[in-house]
Amino acid sequence: MSVIYDRIALIGLGLIAGSMSLAIRDRKLANEVVGYARSQQTRDTAREIGLCDRVTDSLAEAVADADLVVLAVPVGAMGDVAAEIAPHLKPGATVTDVGSVKQAVIDAVQPQLPDDVHFIPGHPLAGTEHSGPRAGFSTLFINRWWLLTPLPDSDPQAVDRLAELVSAMGAKCDRMEPGHHDLVLAVTSHAPHLIAFTMVGVADHLRRVTDEEVIQYSAAGFRDFTRIAASDPTMWRDVFLHNKEATLDILGRFTEELFTLQRAIRMGDGQQLHDYFTRTRGIRRGII
Ligand code: NAD
Repeated sequence: MSVIYDRIALIGLGLIAGSMSLAIRDRKLANEVVGYARSQQTRDTAREIGLCDRVTDSLAEAVADADLVVLAVPVGAMGDVAAEIAPHLKPGATVTDVGSVKQAVIDAVQPQLPDDVHFIPGHPLAGTEHSGPRAGFSTLFINRWWLLTPLPDSDPQAVDRLAELVSAMGAKCDRMEPGHHDLVLAVTSHAPHLIAFTMVGVADHLRRVTDEEVIQYSAAGFRDFTRIAASDPTMWRDVFLHNKEATLDILGRFTEELFTLQRAIRMGDGQQLHDYFTRTRGIRRGII
């Protein structure tokens, strides 16, 4: 594959940036990938496993001469990082982010950046419950969606170039309006994570009553359903704080559905339960 950006700077060397670095370097999509990490431990690990071509503790050094800068820090940190890199960005560079929420990131980042750089927000719909520099792997994005949420005045050529990189990493690229993205992700990712966290919390309460049996005999349903509850607490705190309206909307709808099923159980309404599960099974089986 051919080089798409000469130099790419990755800010925050965790699961997503680490996977990007490996995917970009495997496929030779850039001449140099520079990684910034604020903690010594992350920098040491990144160097030890050869995650990037170069690792630095200086944001200014990381973004100097970079043609693409990727903000891969928790959503709540995006604005501060953008403010810090702003004076050091190369004119004409593209800045993107990989945050799980889009409108709040746009509101925080856009005002910080100079007019002569292109800000094109994005979100790879790919991840695992693991975090940190060792969690990354080069195939993470293959056949996964990567949504770009360009702004009305985004330069189409800059958007196309970023889309080219995303596709070259193996992802399926699509474009979406940021508010719509936040509502869709509240249903497909944010609310399910909250419900998984809650289910583990319920098990934790019961564990005292059942003398650890809840954990010891965790059935497949509990294990499958709560795998995502092992995800990074900082990342998820920030997602809920920054996608508040959409998450609350979805949780309201979820609670109504739950009450409906709760009532059907109480009333012994097998027909209603069967009909509901038949419908939801059909929908779930349609998702590959
Ligand atoms: P991660 O925890 O693996 O990595 C985040 C890195 O950012 C860590 O190295 C952390 O030390 C660093 N960091 C935190 N605050 C910082 C700050 N103020 N300044 C500089 N560095 C800072 O997380 P990740 O899973 O790679 O997530 C990164 C971003 O990608 C988040 O915005 C998240 O919403 C988004 N995202 C995550 C997933 C997922 O499943 N994990 C999927 C898609 C998008």
